[in-house]
Amino acid sequence: MNLRSFDHSHLAHLPEYRAVSRALDDLAHALKREEITISDQDWRQLPAQVAATLPFADHCSSCQSPTRLFFPVSGTVNESRLDACFQCDEGHSWTTRYRLDG
Ligand SMILES: [Zn+2]
Repeated sequence: MNLRSFDHSHLAHLPEYRAVSRALDDLAHALKREEITISDQDWRQLPAQVAATLPFADHCSSCQSPTRLFFPVSGTVNESRLDACFQCDEGHSWTTRYRLDG
């Protein structure tokens, strides 16, 4: 473990904070169960990358309930745009291009 210190105590009372920890633990177990190997570096970057994609939520226009939001599962940043790729629970996939500010 290459962690020197952290303090999330001001967030710990939030059920959503605890849900994030449980979700990451569940994901770690799922990777092991499915025999999916990712590097330690990729594992450490994953939560930050997921958090960075949150502003780019999109809905699946092919599904019956198009109000459900999905988040990019991959993306490429070129200059001032993000090409974000999505997959919904029903197996549809699509790409949305976003203009990045700043
Ligand atoms: Zn869909």
